[in-house]
Amino acid sequence: MQYLPVCLKLKDTPVVLVGGGTVATRKARLLLRAGANLTVVSPKITTELEDALLESGGVWQQSEYTETDVHGKKLVIAATPNSQVNQRVHDDATALSLPVNVVDNPALCTFIFPSIIDRDPIIIAVSSSGQSPVLARILRRKIEAMVPAAYGRLARFAGGLRQTVKQAVPEESPRRLFWESVMEGSVAEQVLAGREDAAREELLQRLQDTESLHSGEVYLIGAGPGDPDLLTFKAARLLQCADVVLYDRLVAPAIVDMARRDAQRIYVGKRRAEHAVPQGDINQLLLDLALQGKRIARLKGGDPFIFGRGGEEIELLAQHQVPFQVVPGITAGSGAACYAGIPLTHRDHAQSVRFVAGYLKDDTVDHDWNSFQSPSETLVFYMGLMGLPIICEQLQAHGRAADTPVALIERATLLEQRVLRGTLATMADIVQREQPTAPTLIIVGDVVRLQEDLSWFGEA
Ligand code: SAH
Repeated sequence: MQYLPVCLKLKDTPVVLVGGGTVATRKARLLLRAGANLTVVSPKITTELEDALLESGGVWQQSEYTETDVHGKKLVIAATPNSQVNQRVHDDATALSLPVNVVDNPALCTFIFPSIIDRDPIIIAVSSSGQSPVLARILRRKIEAMVPAAYGRLARFAGGLRQTVKQAVPEESPRRLFWESVMEGSVAEQVLAGREDAAREELLQRLQDTESLHSGEVYLIGAGPGDPDLLTFKAARLLQCADVVLYDRLVAPAIVDMARRDAQRIYVGKRRAEHAVPQGDINQLLLDLALQGKRIARLKGGDPFIFGRGGEEIELLAQHQVPFQVVPGITAGSGAACYAGIPLTHRDHAQSVRFVAGYLKDDTVDHDWNSFQSPSETLVFYMGLMGLPIICEQLQAHGRAADTPVALIERATLLEQRVLRGTLATMADIVQREQPTAPTLIIVGDVVRLQEDLSWFGEA
């Protein structure tokens, strides 16, 4: 991060703006809106700027810039067409350690102006850190369209009741839950529709229901196979509500980062040369946290109900009547197939697809191999890297042709994705040579042949 966005309180604060053209006028309007005690230094200014200053009690100092103009000021902005003047303003301000912005010259700025979406008192700032103001403006347009104008009213409504709610619910976590339910429910709808009185009444009534205020909840969330863009809207929304996030190795860091900044993050996966937290302990931890009134996002790679032990994690919660929600995710089989360009079913090649656990137990992969014969069924092996030689061998021994195509997709959907291709006869050697690292997924079947035509990713 090259800049830290902060919100400056400018009310009654002495600010100097050097320059009086159209760009300076735009900046002056912003500064005056924020209540700055503004002095504009320039021999000439636009009539619009002159009017704005008159209206708001700002000062026009009709002169060329001199060093003393920055004295006693808290913020300095230069917006003249003269680069030498701008440079001097910068030098004088920095000599006094004053924050300075020289319009359209990032090298001379110690702070920059973001694009603003103003729903006072809600302010949203968008900045490209000076890299692409056009992109920042496009983003701003999108956000403008997304955030109703009445959100300002909603924020003021909440502000007016903040103390009341704080007194009624002194603990932080249930209070946050309360506000979230208010902001996403009928109370907020009432405010947005202009019925503040009814909204206030409903909110005060809800404050009485102490039991529901203190119950925790668990969200078992499928985080997809890796690419953060494959997260569902529901997953993202619930993740941002959570007080605690539990995650393991398969969940991309960028997804964990989407949680609230103050949310507690607990890693429950394997660390190098260590074992993962035992499943029983994770189940218990989820229960304990929920009983403390916390909202917990349990992030699972892919889909929680596909080789994710999701069922076990909610069993204990159900027994203790802790509310939970399960959010489906894109499973690795689906993500890997799409990103590698291998359709899992195809009218001419495969009428069914089977997701199979490929891990080794007692040095073998245990399945009823006779049921894997059909050449028109695609097989997707999860956790199959170690067992791959056995899988290939058993499939051939039980009726699958030696030249059946096989693809191994390493780190599917991530930028490092790699696809290795071979056949049941050759794949074990290819893997031995290429040494792919987990996570990997194995797809077996004629559909793998289609990859050449349908892939847009590189392959080894
Ligand atoms: N619940 C998960 C699967 C967990 S089992 C899901 O629905 O995807 C773990 C296995 O998933 C790994 O051993 C690997 O076979 C597969 N897997 C998960 N993410 C993967 C990825 N990005 N690329 C390839 N395989 C992946």
